[in-house]
Amino acid sequence: MSKRDYYEILGVERGADDQAIKSAYRKLAMKYHPDKNPGNKEAEATFKEINEAYEILSDSEKRQRYDQYGHAGVDPNASAGYGGDYGGFGGFEDVSDIFSSFFGGGNFGGFSQGAARGPMRGDDVATDVHLNFREAFTGTSKEVSFYRLETCPTCHGSGAAEGSSVSSCSTCQGTGQIREVQAGLFGQSVHVRTCPECHGTGEKPDKACPTCKGKGKVRKKRTIRVKIPAGVDTGHVMTLSGEGDIGEKGGPQGDLLLRIFVASDSVFKRQGLDVFQDVKISFTQAALGDEIQIEGLEGKIKLKVDPGTQSGTVRRISGGGFPNVRGYGKGDHYVTFIVTIPRNLNESQKDALRKFASSMGEIEAKENKGFFDKVKDAIK
Ligand code: ZN
Repeated sequence: MSKRDYYEILGVERGADDQAIKSAYRKLAMKYHPDKNPGNKEAEATFKEINEAYEILSDSEKRQRYDQYGHAGVDPNASAGYGGDYGGFGGFEDVSDIFSSFFGGGNFGGFSQGAARGPMRGDDVATDVHLNFREAFTGTSKEVSFYRLETCPTCHGSGAAEGSSVSSCSTCQGTGQIREVQAGLFGQSVHVRTCPECHGTGEKPDKACPTCKGKGKVRKKRTIRVKIPAGVDTGHVMTLSGEGDIGEKGGPQGDLLLRIFVASDSVFKRQGLDVFQDVKISFTQAALGDEIQIEGLEGKIKLKVDPGTQSGTVRRISGGGFPNVRGYGKGDHYVTFIVTIPRNLNESQKDALRKFASSMGEIEAKENKGFFDKVKDAIK
């Protein structure tokens, strides 16, 4: 199921500022809140969607990642592949979770990841990998480029300019988080978010590092060579752990997610692990039988054409398909014989066929009339 665009969900322009996003969110959250729509599953789903969109768009870092990578850049659940073990923020199980974290009375588990003060795992980053059909079949090695947050080389992560002293952040009183209490439709609501001044550290240098503007982190382009196993397919996501954004306060790095895209092929078609291929044979080969050689994915394959083979006959080459990417089992290779009918026959070839047809009792050998002549004869 493809996800809706977060800006579209909130009904704001892509360039909307924080205030516009917040007010659009508030309006929609009021309208679709489960309390106002008891038993309405559609409203409940919309309410979840709105909250998800707001969680991303109200966080400048997540919003930047969303703008750059789309849903996959911010959604750890975007993976449909293998080997995935995702941290990141967890999806909400049901509306009551959202309710407690959003409108509840002071226990804010999980919603705003940036509000925690201990070591935090860095975010995952994602990039696309494009392969041709054969590369997916054999496995390959690819260079991939992606952006990730790394420790600022100038301030080594402190966010402070050289010689600057560090004091407690005045905006959040050193807590690293800001609570906003609002009187609303459902009583008091509290929203906790990462302090925008100190980015959750609770400390602020008197002079910010000029390279990272005090964040302690910079976005860097990285290119690495990755081994892609045989058998991958479009929709698979490979996880390279520890290649994502750096963590906070000594937390582990996030992961790099490689989204696999495999191009289609003009000869071979894939379905799961099986490979399908059409092979043309002449009608004499089909009638008399033959032994032919075809170009398979792993080189030449000899195939026997039985006498009397009909067009559409399928031959299965067991184990000739894609290997399972997890390393066990293989698909099969199916060859469909397509019998071709000759075009543009010369007179002697036509004669030979008429004689053949006559021998089969189909037409009188001497009759030289075409189909339309015969039709005309018939309706005289
Ligand atoms: Zn810096």
